[in-house]
Amino acid sequence: MGALLNLRNRIRRRATTERRPDSEPRERGNLVKVLIIEDEPNMVLGLKDSCEYEGYEVSVARDGKKGLEKASTEKPDIIILDVMLPSMSGLDVCRTLRTRGIETPILMLTARGEEMDKVVGLEVGADDYVTKPFSIKELLARVRALLRRATKQVADIESFDFSDVELNFKKYTARRGGQALDLSAREFEILHYLIRHRGETVTREQLLDEVWGYDSTPITRTVDNHIARLRQKIEPDPSEPQHIITVHRIGYRFIE
Ligand code: CA
Repeated sequence: MGALLNLRNRIRRRATTERRPDSEPRERGNLVKVLIIEDEPNMVLGLKDSCEYEGYEVSVARDGKKGLEKASTEKPDIIILDVMLPSMSGLDVCRTLRTRGIETPILMLTARGEEMDKVVGLEVGADDYVTKPFSIKELLARVRALLRRATKQVADIESFDFSDVELNFKKYTARRGGQALDLSAREFEILHYLIRHRGETVTREQLLDEVWGYDSTPITRTVDNHIARLRQKIEPDPSEPQHIITVHRIGYRFIE
């Protein structure tokens, strides 16, 4: 729990210096609702605080039956569900919700060593899981990913051309002006993500979550360095980017 609190503080510090207004999935007054179903008081406190700091509206249920009830009546946007709960297990809560046709994204909290819970959890319809003890950073990244997945199904793209650049994301090949262009796997993934979200502002955090993954701890500067290298390779004039545009203090936007 100490580690959890420390991380929370670290996230707070970072959050105060890097506001990410566009990463709020909803407009003000229509906040994302998170239902936390968990019985350990410290865990509830840590989760609630962190979710509220993210700008989510939080509801808590401290046992399985209450959780099931709230999940049905309060219509949360996402459920954080512990497996070990009084009155009804998290697995049963999950199974029951899915049987009732409630498709709210569910992030399951499993305990270390309970490998079966992960497998069964996904089988009964959980969307993702984290294993305790987890970092709040990882948990929030997963929550954001689930919310994004739920609100927007982004079509995958096999190939994409812009100006004199031709990309094939399936074969991992790139050409510019008919010549082979040497892109690293990471650069491919960044481009793939930006192009799938073309026209939108993509935050550095989003790129870190989606391209680098949850477990690594790169810094936002890493993203900027990769973008700078990409621009050298794909922009007609890297000093005045026309395709990967900087959105001041937030991130980047891809434009064809
Ligand atoms: Ca528990």
